[in-house]
Amino acid sequence: MQRTDYHTHTPLCLHATGEPEQFVTRALELNLSTYGIADHAPMPPEQEPYDNWRMRYADAAAYREWINRARAAAQGSSLSILTGLECDWFPGIEPWIQRLRKEFDCDYLIGSVHYLRHGESVDDSVYANRTITESTEQDWLLYWQAVTDMVNSRLFDIIGHIDLVKIWGRVPGGDLSRFYTPTLDALEHSGIAVEINTAGWHKYCAEQYPSRAFLQEMLARRIPIVINSDAHAPEQLSRNWEQAVTLLHELTGKQPVQFEHRTANSPHTILHAYGSF
Ligand SMILES: [Zn+2]
Ligand SMILES: [Zn+2]
Repeated sequence: MQRTDYHTHTPLCLHATGEPEQFVTRALELNLSTYGIADHAPMPPEQEPYDNWRMRYADAAAYREWINRARAAAQGSSLSILTGLECDWFPGIEPWIQRLRKEFDCDYLIGSVHYLRHGESVDDSVYANRTITESTEQDWLLYWQAVTDMVNSRLFDIIGHIDLVKIWGRVPGGDLSRFYTPTLDALEHSGIAVEINTAGWHKYCAEQYPSRAFLQEMLARRIPIVINSDAHAPEQLSRNWEQAVTLLHELTGKQPVQFEHRTANSPHTILHAYGSF
């Protein structure tokens, strides 16, 4: 099985560390076949500074340069290095995302919902201090509606940490399929892959994204899966890969199978996906 990682960051997003050569050294140690760089995408310049955890639009050239250094470091090896971006999705952002894909010459795009309301990122620690009240139900409804709309925009190749809203353990009671099903319906037959994001194991929720229940349903519907680390430092690259493979094995009762998958948006990009096919 080829080990891949499509969700990794660079210091240009202002909250990651490491030189491109260090990431490549780690990728080669782990025998990765693909090291995909997908940093937090800039917001339109007129909205900057949008927040303090993303690349500035003015750093586009520096991003290219950073990726070129990674490619130079990997030269002579079989490691393939891809250019991506992790984009925040909002209604109305579509033209900007299309522009980013072209301008950054992306091999693929990850779509993520971080913002629940304007200026309110669900992974911000201020969000953690809220108590579990009926607002949890409302927050989940808002969040999953945004994810479904993002899937339906068809702008992305991979959906990032699809149930990030659980990060601080604020999970509504009862069967969560009332949130999951509309998103799963949108994903089915879309050709969009969903990542198992292993960084969730290191967050307050202490669980991979997405939950077992969501993954089980993805497997049943044959929605493509990629295993990503969301690394913000070289030592985090492809972290908990084996644990994710074991999880897939547990859920399917079979050894995970890897296959090649072309997304609708990036006909030249081959994603390695996993499932019980
Ligand atoms: Zn980040
Ligand atoms: Zn993210």
